[in-house]
Amino acid sequence: MKVLIATQKPFAAAAVEGIESILREAGHSVEKLEKYPGEAELIAAALDADALIVRSDKVTADVIAAAPSLKIVVRAGAGYDNVDLAAASARGIVVMNTPGQNANAVAELAIGLMIYMARTQFTPATGSELAGKTLGVQAFGNVGRLVGQKAAALGMKVQALDPFLTDTQIEQAGATPVHSIEELYSTSDYLSVHIPALPETIGSIGYDLVRSMPKGAVLVNTARKEVVDEEGLAKALEERPDLKYVTDVMPDNYAALTEKLGTRVFATPKKMGAQTAEANINAGLAAARQIADFFATGNRRFQVNK
Ligand code: NAD
Repeated sequence: MKVLIATQKPFAAAAVEGIESILREAGHSVEKLEKYPGEAELIAAALDADALIVRSDKVTADVIAAAPSLKIVVRAGAGYDNVDLAAASARGIVVMNTPGQNANAVAELAIGLMIYMARTQFTPATGSELAGKTLGVQAFGNVGRLVGQKAAALGMKVQALDPFLTDTQIEQAGATPVHSIEELYSTSDYLSVHIPALPETIGSIGYDLVRSMPKGAVLVNTARKEVVDEEGLAKALEERPDLKYVTDVMPDNYAALTEKLGTRVFATPKKMGAQTAEANINAGLAAARQIADFFATGNRRFQVNK
């Protein structure tokens, strides 16, 4: 089978080597398309691909339509909102992600962003400490749990909301369960967002929730920019000069926000959550193993378009 690795933002070199060796040992051929300018190049390269490994690359209905042999797409990462699932499913193409493989990288960044804001972005102004503060974790999946564990080790009180987990599961993973989003936002000094971008979560964090946060609270978003209603966020931050927003996913209105709010808002210049050598290698090798296993045994364990 021919496997295409299509990465506008390439994997670390060690990850590429590992991916190629897993796939070649399993008898597949590998082609790379790195740092490509746009969809046209992806369409051309995908023409005879049986499998596709991508990172944040957009696998649109047009890309899928242009690849008649395509059987499997693996998004090396957690969120798979960059793949047109409906178009893939309509052709019987299996779409997988590699859950958990970059979770530690994202969790470490979330903690780093909290410290950066607590320490007033390393300006001379007096900062504050995380110990003793309450952290609310919105979605207690692979990233959320690791953020919770690390925050607990720093002396934070950790509470979490995840409608798909039982109280016992949340408690066993080290947090106090919270049962409503209103309670989570109104009682958390730091609120770390880890919900996936889905039709029901897009734009779901807006004016009312942000406005309800305790005095001096910090909203931390290492999930997706789409889950935040940017207008509502801007309005709440304007009305509440004590609140801060820090994000790994730059809002569309970032320039306007920083112009109005200065250092109360900070976005990493590029999405950096999963940008570690370790996460690259973990997610890339997992993608390669999942493809080799799918072709060898039909294993669909990580399929997301069931
Ligand atoms: P995950 O699939 O392990 O966990 C997602 C959790 O969200 C699950 O526990 C699920 O039950 C919960 N959930 C779903 N809908 C919810 C809702 N409406 N309210 C509360 N909880 C809800 O995913 P993950 O690895 O923890 O990653 C979380 C998200 O972070 C991804 O979907 C992705 O968008 C984002 N992410 C960003 C980066 C980055 O580079 N910044 C990297 C990896 C992941």
